[in-house]
Amino acid sequence: MGTGFGEALLEQGPDALLLLTSDGTIAFVNSAAEQLFGYPREELLGVQHTVLLSEGERGGFLRVFGRLGRNSRAGSRPFPAVGRRRDGSEAAVEITCSLVTLDAGTAMAVAVRDAAHRTDSDSGRRLALSLLDATLETTSDGIVMVSTEGHITGINDQFLKLWCMPPELIASEDPTALARFIAEQLADPDYFLQKVSALYADTELQSHDVLEFADGRTVELYSRPQKVADTVVGRIWNFRDTTSRRRAQDQARRAMEELAEQADKLKELAFQDPLTGLANRMLFNQRAAAALLTPEPVHVLLLDLDDFKEVNDVLGHHAGDQMLVEVSRRLRNCVGPHGTVARLGGDEFVVLLVGCRDADGVAQRVVSTLNAPVSIEGTLMRPGLSLGVASRDAGTQTSSELLRRADLAMYAAKEAGKNCYVHFQPEMLAALLERTQLTAGLRRAVELGQIAVHYQPVISSDRLDVVQFEALARWEWKGTVIPPNDFIQTAERSGLIREIGAEVLRRSCTELAPWLSEDPFRSVAVNVSGVQLQHQDFAERVLDIAAWSGVDPRQLVLEVTESVFFDAHSHVIGQLETLREAGIRVALDDFGTGYSSLGRLQDLPVDVVKIDKSFVSMLRTGVEKLPILTSMIHMARSLGLKVTAEGIETPAQARYLMDHGCDALQGFLFSPPEPAEARQQAVLNSVAAIAELEGVPLQG
Ligand code: C2E
Ligand code: MG
Ligand code: MG
Repeated sequence: MGTGFGEALLEQGPDALLLLTSDGTIAFVNSAAEQLFGYPREELLGVQHTVLLSEGERGGFLRVFGRLGRNSRAGSRPFPAVGRRRDGSEAAVEITCSLVTLDAGTAMAVAVRDAAHRTDSDSGRRLALSLLDATLETTSDGIVMVSTEGHITGINDQFLKLWCMPPELIASEDPTALARFIAEQLADPDYFLQKVSALYADTELQSHDVLEFADGRTVELYSRPQKVADTVVGRIWNFRDTTSRRRAQDQARRAMEELAEQADKLKELAFQDPLTGLANRMLFNQRAAAALLTPEPVHVLLLDLDDFKEVNDVLGHHAGDQMLVEVSRRLRNCVGPHGTVARLGGDEFVVLLVGCRDADGVAQRVVSTLNAPVSIEGTLMRPGLSLGVASRDAGTQTSSELLRRADLAMYAAKEAGKNCYVHFQPEMLAALLERTQLTAGLRRAVELGQIAVHYQPVISSDRLDVVQFEALARWEWKGTVIPPNDFIQTAERSGLIREIGAEVLRRSCTELAPWLSEDPFRSVAVNVSGVQLQHQDFAERVLDIAAWSGVDPRQLVLEVTESVFFDAHSHVIGQLETLREAGIRVALDDFGTGYSSLGRLQDLPVDVVKIDKSFVSMLRTGVEKLPILTSMIHMARSLGLKVTAEGIETPAQARYLMDHGCDALQGFLFSPPEPAEARQQAVLNSVAAIAELEGVPLQG
């Protein structure tokens, strides 16, 4: 038989024949094919074979091609398909394929036979099959079906893509090779292979696994038996790429974790003192409230640092902060993990002890630990503190009540001399009440003009005469005279001292103006509190009063204590200098009892020092040697200051002080402070006392 027969058979045979190149283009068609599909062959040559297949069948070529391995007969078995004619109508066909090796490469010979004669009986089955095919090709899962005999009976493109599987591997029809190819891409190949053999060993088994790729992707594997009626005919392997889902889940989880972390941090910040890291007031209140609900003993230790303002003012805020941090550290160490240490603000700290059997021990430890020296920016300092302790009893229900009690105890500790701790006592509440009533009463007294002034003479050692009166405030109340020590502190706390101070100045200037005008050497001394000096307009107000009463500023002396100079940066010094420029003199009252040393004296804007009566009272006989007293006098004098001695009660004291260079003398020996009406008498008494002094023998 010559080629002519072959060609005739190809060309005119009953079956439609096509040749497809490996990329799916049609390279040859015969006339049966032209007739079957209704195309002239020119329109088919060189176009994709998919034009001849119905929509649902288009993915099929690759699979069929893949199946046509050299040693496989699988693809060459006839299979049903639905073709598509040129006019759009569909035709049931049966297809058989085989691989053909040509010079140009591998191609596929396709025989298509009209299966219309079967359609009617098979239409249900065909529908089901096409549905299955369509599902296989549209799902994003990678699916492979393997028969019990080990043949690959179904496979979709997704499966090939998922595993980057070459068609030849599919064509080999070797499920073991397939499994190995998959396993090689996994993070744990052994696990997968074991799973596969377990599933093959038990055909009824269903499984669900999560497989991790070595490259970080994740797939879920569902495997279940494929059954026809009740018989297992194979197994379906379904791989689903869940990488993006898992990544999204991971991301969401991480976001949630971060959020939770931030929330924790925010919560922490809301309850934390930023400088020291201690609990803040809010957290303290919360813990105290919780503790009060338990039957445990509850103690509150409230403390503030003494003279902390000085550290801030003299060394700066940075040093102040360092001090607070150091104090916090020490407090934490004293208290340990079972107590709460909180900073309430400024230099105020509080410790909450719950279930502690030795609150006194802790309080004592706090006092001694905090008071140990600390070096801050090169300066050695000892943080001083006053500590108040309040413990829960039947009467205290709330944390604010406990705090208030601790606060009262703390004030008592301050008054008791600082660097100690004091327990709350019910009497303190009564004292507080008294103070409150005192303030109200004092306010009324100021309004009603019940603040009076008493005058005490001051005698010049040179002139042996009264040259000055010190004005001392008195509260005349219901026929009694209340001394300043009983109300000045209250007046300072409430701010009333401003009005009281102004009133004393006004009264003394007006009452003494005639006496002063008689002799320019005479003067009036008025006490001034640090609180008054805090007011910017203090100097101006003093000068106004002097001008208004007609008193020469050079006849006015203002007595201040050393404590007003603590506030080195404030305007106190400036105000005093303004006053001195106007001729007013400044006296340092109670000298020797405050903080500053003799050495500091030369830097202060003062003209006079008043040696405190506690030094004068050390003089009993007038013959003892008192080096402190004498050096105080000499030091002041060598700085060009005048010296007044206060609290002189005996002639011996007066004599001694005169002999050692005191410029002026004041004390009960000459006269106690007297009301304005008795001033003349006070002068007479003083003169008499001076005369008696003349008879006192000189002492060495
Ligand atoms: P100070 O300024 O040191 O006044 C001297 C105090 O010593 C006066 O007490 C006076 O009565 C008392 N004194 C005088 N001579 C003797 C003596 O020989 N022996 C003893 N033991 N005491 C003597 P006073 O009047 O009770 O005043 C007490 C303090 O109250 C004053 O001390 C002063 O610091 C303050 N003060 C008085 N009046 C005012 C005022 O108008 N404003 C302010 N801010 N403070 C005032
Ligand atoms: Mg005074
Ligand atoms: Mg004094």
